[in-house]
Amino acid sequence: PPLYKQRYQFVIDLVKKYKPKKVVDLGCADCTLLWKLKFQTCIEVLAGVDINRAVITDKMYRLSPLPCEYLQPSERPLTIKLYQGSVAEKDPCTLGFDLASCIELIEHLETPVLEKFSEMVFGYMTPAIVIISTPNAEFNRLLPGLNGFRHKDHKFEWTKEEFQNWAQDVCSSYNYTVEFTGVGKGPPGTEDVGFCTQCGVFTRSYPSKGSLTADSCRDTEHSYKPIYNVVY
Ligand code: SAM
Repeated sequence: PPLYKQRYQFVIDLVKKYKPKKVVDLGCADCTLLWKLKFQTCIEVLAGVDINRAVITDKMYRLSPLPCEYLQPSERPLTIKLYQGSVAEKDPCTLGFDLASCIELIEHLETPVLEKFSEMVFGYMTPAIVIISTPNAEFNRLLPGLNGFRHKDHKFEWTKEEFQNWAQDVCSSYNYTVEFTGVGKGPPGTEDVGFCTQCGVFTRSYPSKGSLTADSCRDTEHSYKPIYNVVY
């Protein structure tokens, strides 16, 4: 399967493993991953955030209940919410999630925005699990005809060491641990290059911050614009 599908499957496999009830996709774009996650029955709240409103609204109606789902409502509650907002800004609607995915997002962020992103995700949202994927720059030499970055909007592409250093710094600042893996293998003999897409799976090292901290976080002002809300 194409690489983007392998990345989505990587998230789906982790959802199957950890069975989170509340999942948020940061940088959800046209909601393809959300649409796939909708079929994971452990999930009760599914949310998507993207800075680009047009890219979200383009195909979001496929998240609506299907006729058969109206006729035969399932036992499980499911709410799907979409927001326009930046991952650099805090908003109370991002609180309370068990798992956050950030697939091919961080390489689109300028350094100061990336710093705010770390604080917002690992310091404010504090989900139990965070999945981050980004290109592995070392793999680029195996991509024929590539000259420069893989996409013109990329602000950086990191080697394995650069990504791992950033991730370890985040972990020591915010009390998480991380395991590294990836998707997309090169041809035999290129194992040292690593995966085409590198992934970090971050796990919070402390139990959920009880309601006290959560309540004070809820006082943050809203900066996200709700654009879709459906209750199954
Ligand atoms: N996660 C999707 C996927 O894997 O198919 C989309 C990846 S796309 C390469 C990056 C997305 O991040 C775009 O939809 C873009 O609008 C969004 N994005 C960029 N900067 C953002 C920010 N500061 N806050 C939220 N979303 C952002």
